[in-house]
Amino acid sequence: MMSKGASVRFQSVSKHYGDVQALQEFSLDVAAGEFITILGASGSGKSTVLNALAGFSPASAGEIFVNDKPITHAPPEKRNIGMVFQNYSLFPHMNVLENVCFPLLMRKMDKAQRETLGRKALDIVRLADFAARKPKELSGGQQQRVAIARAIVFSPSLLLMDEPLGALDLKLREALQFEIKEIQHQLNCTVIYVTHDQREALAMSNRIAVLRAGRIEQVGTPA
Ligand code: ADP
Ligand code: MG
Repeated sequence: MMSKGASVRFQSVSKHYGDVQALQEFSLDVAAGEFITILGASGSGKSTVLNALAGFSPASAGEIFVNDKPITHAPPEKRNIGMVFQNYSLFPHMNVLENVCFPLLMRKMDKAQRETLGRKALDIVRLADFAARKPKELSGGQQQRVAIARAIVFSPSLLLMDEPLGALDLKLREALQFEIKEIQHQLNCTVIYVTHDQREALAMSNRIAVLRAGRIEQVGTPA
């Protein structure tokens, strides 16, 4: 599952939902292979940044580049971007392996190849023995690892994580922080991580961008 991390450039990206201005001329450069965290309070626009980049909720204005190519208007499945959502969003009627393989189905890969890659992704998150379980038969931490496996199953060069550990207790959160760093090294991908937890941002990141009311307030190393 080797890939090379992608670089990302947000160029004056704005996003409004009706009257709500969620992002205002958001600009940020992310280097290939970097682990960057967007840190901000609830409502500051963090999820909006990730959804614009992943293509689930396109920008209203501005341009987004991945590896110097504009992708602002490309459909999500053409972007090679994995995303872990804030609330897991696993499909309850599908078992673990089917959940993990779902992005490959969207990419029209045949069944045998889907299962090979799906089992490889489950190995990486140490859930190989849970392939046949339904999400409701798993703990919160296990469900979140399934969501991570689903996000990395197509070896994305860019992995987006939206408050992935927010619902977990402290001990599990610290263990998964470590696992996420390991996964990044294994995949050799760029990570854009979102949290409102300053300690988590300081522990995990090469750089931190502080977001406030849809604008970047500060960008720098944890130091
Ligand atoms: P965060 O992830 O930092 O909590 P969001 O990006 O979800 O923030 O939201 C930024 C702002 O945009 C908030 O004021 C929020 O209420 C608003 N917002 C987000 N999604 C929608 C939506 N689908 N419709 C209307 N307003 C939205
Ligand atoms: Mg959010």
